[in-house]
Amino acid sequence: MIIVMTSGAAEEDIARVIQRLEQDGYGHHISHGVERTVIGAVGAPEAEKEQLADQLSRLPMVERVVPILKPYKLVSREYHPETGVVKVGPAHFGDEKIAVIAGPCAVESEEQVLEAAQVVKAAGAVALRGGAYKPRTSPYSFQGLGEEGLDLLAKARELTGLPVVSEVMAPRQIEGMIDRVDALQVGARNMHNYDLLREVGQTGMPILLKRGFAATVQEWLRAAEYVAASGNLDIIMCERGVRTFETETRFTFDLAGMAAAKQETYLPIIADPSHTTGDYRLVGPMALAAVAAGADGLMIEVHPHPDQALSDGPQSLTPASFKRLMDQVRTVAAAVGREMA
Ligand code: PEP
Ligand code: MN
Repeated sequence: MIIVMTSGAAEEDIARVIQRLEQDGYGHHISHGVERTVIGAVGAPEAEKEQLADQLSRLPMVERVVPILKPYKLVSREYHPETGVVKVGPAHFGDEKIAVIAGPCAVESEEQVLEAAQVVKAAGAVALRGGAYKPRTSPYSFQGLGEEGLDLLAKARELTGLPVVSEVMAPRQIEGMIDRVDALQVGARNMHNYDLLREVGQTGMPILLKRGFAATVQEWLRAAEYVAASGNLDIIMCERGVRTFETETRFTFDLAGMAAAKQETYLPIIADPSHTTGDYRLVGPMALAAVAAGADGLMIEVHPHPDQALSDGPQSLTPASFKRLMDQVRTVAAAVGREMA
């Protein structure tokens, strides 16, 4: 349930509500808005909710207590009507500007990642992507450079000032990532890995949560709720396509699902036209469509030499085509009343 404080509520009024929740053994999240503070109660058993709501509504300076019937509440728009802003280093996601994360699928070498970082920055990306741990379908495919890859990402960040987003596949990898990357990506294949969701939630680092390719929008939102319920509301959602009968593209871009998710959650949502299409020729049109449909940003794979890439070369843009696409994205963003970050 959500406890909405009156606009004149003082710190002690808020503290009284929290104390009451703690006393009953429930957790909480606070959202300080410009006008009023909203407190989300976590963990109240279904059977006790109604009674607790009645009791809390009698505390001073509580305007109303809103029961949340949806299975996700911390990430719902009911909890927070305006889109939230998630900061990844100096980059902002969800503040009305279109924020682009770009870089190679995987970190392959120092030369490759430093060059990629420089070119994506020059074209206007606000964050660098690059996998050090790669979830490959075949155990014989390139699995990423691991720790060495993380060091190279940190180096690229130092060189360009771009914050870094990189995928975490297992809880044991988290410790090594904390200082070397700025946001932890949970990939499509791990969206249902609830232990991992809890663990990344506890780091307090921004999380980029991809939609599982067989996950409904509701399941994706509930996965975000896992992270949020672990104490972390800094979540960027990423639509990356779902599996359908269609084989012409790698996945089917569910833009309607993205737009539907945007109605339901206040978390910023970005789109990944690279993994959804699997084809560099389709990345541009889908990137533009996503921005037109309300995406708060994009994640795009860019490789200095896609013909030499160790993973996802067929969907990687060259630096020149990425630059051209960014110019087009700028135009579409302006057409829907937004600007580039
Ligand atoms: C990635 O972004 O590197 C990736 C593997 O994407 P996804 O989890 O969406 O397949
Ligand atoms: Mn990839």
